Amino acid sequence: MERIFKKSLALILTLVLALNTAGCVQRPGTPQESGEPQQSGEPQVSGEPGEEPGETGSEYASWVNSDIQEWVKEIGEADAKDDFHLHVNREWMLNTVIPDGYSSFDTITERALEVDSQLMDILENPEKETDPALIHDQELVQKYYTMWLDWDARNKLGVSALKDLLDPLMKVQDLDDLTAYLSMPRTVISATELAQCEASMDWNNADYYAVYVMPVDLIFGDSMYYGYMEESDALDEPYYNVVIRHILVELGYSDEEATEVLKSCFAFEKDISEYIMTTEEESARDAVVKENNPRTLEELEAEAGDFPIRKILEASGADKSERYILTQPDWLAAMDVLYDEDYVEHLRDYLICYTVQDYATLLDRETYDIYYKVINDISGATGTKSDKKSATDAVDDFLPSQLGRLYADRYVSDDTQNEVTDITKEILDEYRVMLSEETFLTEETRREAVKKLDNLILRIAKPIKWEDDSELNFAGSTEGGNLISAQDEVGAFWVKRMQSRINQKVDRNLWTSSIQDVNAFYDPSQNSITLCGGILGGALYNSDMTREELFANVGDTIAHEISHAFDTTGCQFDEKGNLRNWWTQEDQAAFAARADKLAAYYDNIEPFMDVYCVGSQIEGEAIADLVAIKILLRIAEKDSAFDYDKFFRAYAETWRTITTARSEFYVLSQDTHPLPYLRVNCVVQQFDEFYETYGVKKGDGMYLAPKDRLEVW
Ligand SMILES: [Zn+2]
Repeated sequence: MERIFKKSLALILTLVLALNTAGCVQRPGTPQESGEPQQSGEPQVSGEPGEEPGETGSEYASWVNSDIQEWVKEIGEADAKDDFHLHVNREWMLNTVIPDGYSSFDTITERALEVDSQLMDILENPEKETDPALIHDQELVQKYYTMWLDWDARNKLGVSALKDLLDPLMKVQDLDDLTAYLSMPRTVISATELAQCEASMDWNNADYYAVYVMPVDLIFGDSMYYGYMEESDALDEPYYNVVIRHILVELGYSDEEATEVLKSCFAFEKDISEYIMTTEEESARDAVVKENNPRTLEELEAEAGDFPIRKILEASGADKSERYILTQPDWLAAMDVLYDEDYVEHLRDYLICYTVQDYATLLDRETYDIYYKVINDISGATGTKSDKKSATDAVDDFLPSQLGRLYADRYVSDDTQNEVTDITKEILDEYRVMLSEETFLTEETRREAVKKLDNLILRIAKPIKWEDDSELNFAGSTEGGNLISAQDEVGAFWVKRMQSRINQKVDRNLWTSSIQDVNAFYDPSQNSITLCGGILGGALYNSDMTREELFANVGDTIAHEISHAFDTTGCQFDEKGNLRNWWTQEDQAAFAARADKLAAYYDNIEPFMDVYCVGSQIEGEAIADLVAIKILLRIAEKDSAFDYDKFFRAYAETWRTITTARSEFYVLSQDTHPLPYLRVNCVVQQFDEFYETYGVKKGDGMYLAPKDRLEVW
């Protein structure tokens, strides 16, 4: 969660600088505004509902962005025919309050808060476990929870434990020192490196693991922001200037020295950001193909030149992989140039700043309070989470599998798993029929698509097999440990786990996510869908739901995730998860034309005045939303008693959201999902059933001419 908030820092930069609109297209001919995008006051739309196509120059409907609470307060009720999202959700939006410590609130957050209180209950009221694995898990989560809440011990320790970690780095004067530092096991385990590596399913042979070699993370997130930032902008940012500066001063730097370190860190971030893909590039259709660059260690070494990639991989124990995937060759070539005697201080200062900010929430109370004040100011959140809630979040971040096993044992029933599996199979059956009937595809491609569907791995509610974590351990406070030493011990376990996977076969029964997450996803490299136990509860799923409610909630989630197997990225992977083109050329072109039409449709939607959606950034998710409803409506068609009004309303309710303009703008610029109000309106207006249920006609806000309607699958 912290990481997401950190990313939102960059939003402020875009708002303040307003040089460009952060991944959103500025309409040609629209004068660029020097101020902030409109945040309050009269929301302006680009055309009034009911205008005839052509009058506004756009054939698309214009709805007020009804995710933003302030704006909704200023507009009246809407008819279902004109703005369905607003029509269904207005009352709720006016009567709901954003909880303390959050900048937005929606159905998923509501469920996440329920799961959080269940997790807190596990920690506050531990049960006596009898299963040896659960006894071990219980011990670990209790040790960490207790240490996290022990402010006396944390205040006493202050930054001293961090000093020990950073001492060798702070002493770095030349390239030899730096290379020696990067080669130390403790650097790999607990500090930031100048390259990231991880063992994951090989895109070129999905049965085996490969080592992925990736660029460093940037403090302000998206590399695109650095194009608009100068040193003075970075130093004005409270995250740089308050949080990191505070820890540097605690570590013994004078104020002037801290300023120099921050400037020097920024110089490296700005230089390297030019060679790191932006969020928009990473979500583009061709991103995976561009990132799939198989290499041997020798080839990597040749490309890295002076940059000691072999030593970094040796220190991680990742130097024996038969295959490396270099995701961004331009970045590695740039590191060769920057790894220079004259540039050492910038590399060192980046490592210092990045490492200290990673530990900001694990130090003393003063640092913790400073951190949260800055994060709240930036995200627009008010109030603070309770310490117990923050400690629960910290355990969840640090020991996700341990807390997850305890969660599954207490809260995820076999009945839920069975019921949701049954619904999934019903949806899969309908997908099979739809794919085999696709008239825009040749027989050959249809067969491949069905094969992919038939090989889809289902991970529902909880794993059938847990990974053996019995060797994971760390010292608690009674054994002389603290939060920083725990990081070392557990980090060492994970590095060892990564090493054990290199060149080994992938076990497809293992999950790659926490079961307590309120989340669901498709993994193209395994051709699997995962519905975490956390999402299968509360308002999102319960066994008393009507069929319409089930379809609008869990059914939609399942159908959405399956469809990612066939979105513009997913369709590049085959039934096993290999990046393999299984399309005939003409089918590929026909599919691309359909996806292009969808992207162009979203390019015309204007959530803020003069700021448009970027179709290419959200097309994968938009396709998934569209196909999900299509599949559910195909199943509904067979049921003469199906209540479409109930279904569409329940669907709109799942996407109800209240947020601030600031937070919404960030989502628009960085998220690969369409904004919540668009996930309702842009989807339902594609289907005849919606027009029939509400009598939508030409001239209504929800009307879209048949020739403009979207159909990808
Ligand atoms: Zn999705």
